[in-house]
This record gives sequence, C-alpha cells and structure tokens, in this order.
Amino acid sequence: ETTAELIDAHLLTVQDFPSEGILFRDVTSVYANGEAFASVVDAFASHDWGQVDAVLGIEARGFGIAAAMAYARGVGMVSVRKAGKLPGELLSEDYALEYGTATLQVQPNVLPRGSRVVILDDLLATGGTLAAVVTLAERAGWAVAGIGIVIALDDLGGRAALAGHDVLELSSYP
Ligand code: 5GP
Repeated sequence: ETTAELIDAHLLTVQDFPSEGILFRDVTSVYANGEAFASVVDAFASHDWGQVDAVLGIEARGFGIAAAMAYARGVGMVSVRKAGKLPGELLSEDYALEYGTATLQVQPNVLPRGSRVVILDDLLATGGTLAAVVTLAERAGWAVAGIGIVIALDDLGGRAALAGHDVLELSSYP
C-alpha cells in the first residue's frame, strides 16, 4: 500500500467538530497505526530536502512526526508552540484563524542562524499556520529547506500561501 492509501485507510473523519459545519480530519488515528505511522515518517525522512539541520514540529499534531523524522535523520527537533508554553527568549507570530487570531512562538536561540530546517504539521487548510511558522523560522535566521504535511485540503488556498517553498503533501482531500 502507498502512504496515501495507508493514511486514507486509518484517517478518522468527524462531522461537526470542533464546531457545527466543520468536517474534521483527525490524523491521531493514522499515527496510532504502526504501519501507517512508519510510512508517514519514512516518506518525510527519505524525501530529498537537501541539507537538513533540524525539524520543526507545530503543536500538537506536528510534534510526533517531527520528532520521529528528526530521529530518523539524526538531527534535532524544535517545538513551535502556542503562546504561553515556552520559557526564555521568544519570537512570536500572530496569524488569522477562521474566527479571531492565534499566536505561535519559538525559541530562536536553540539553533544557530543559518540552520536549514524542515517544518512539519498534520494538515494544510488555508496555510495561515504554516506561513506564520515560515515567518518565525526566517526571523530566527533559519533557512526553510521545505514543508511536509500529512494531509492537504484542496481549494482553501494553502498551496498559494506557501508558494515558492518545497511542499511535500502525503495525501489530499477535497
Ligand atoms: P490553516 O492554518 O492551514 O488554515 O489550518 C491548519 C491548522 O489548523 C493545522 O495546524 C491543523 O492542525 C489545524 N486544522 C484545521 N483543520 C483541521 C482538520 O480538519 N483536522 C485537523 N487535524 N487539523 C485541522
């Protein structure tokens, strides 16, 4: 089976979560299956990103895949977290949600400037989240080697928001 087939076989799709009218794609159930999780991690780890110095994972469904890819490549893993979770010197980036805004933060001093990083998250919708993390990485002085996502939702503008970057999508849904 291909990685996309394994994702499709194990993905939990829930109507009206977290609110009325939303069709939620939950990759937790993909990660819970050993064969599917290994296929996802191997796809990210084996992709030709050029040099990779670290993997950035976005809270929370990006953490597990970023840690596993980082281990497979023998590089470090950096957590990009929601506001208020990380201590010390921070960079913050606000971004638009469907209703209101949210803030993501990173510790810029955990990696040297000039590091090449891959950014991983579970799902691409409008691309607002990943675009904010690209901005955080660039403000920290890191070069974005590429972006990996388990599921891309079509027609929500995510690909356009990440134009110019090497984006590896393991599956896509309407
Ligand atoms: P975007 O910023 O691209 O509009 O939305 C992507 C972000 O929202 C990701 O961090 C993702 O975890 C979350 N998200 C939005 N819709 C869904 C969904 O249907 N399923 C999951 N798992 N996450 C979603």
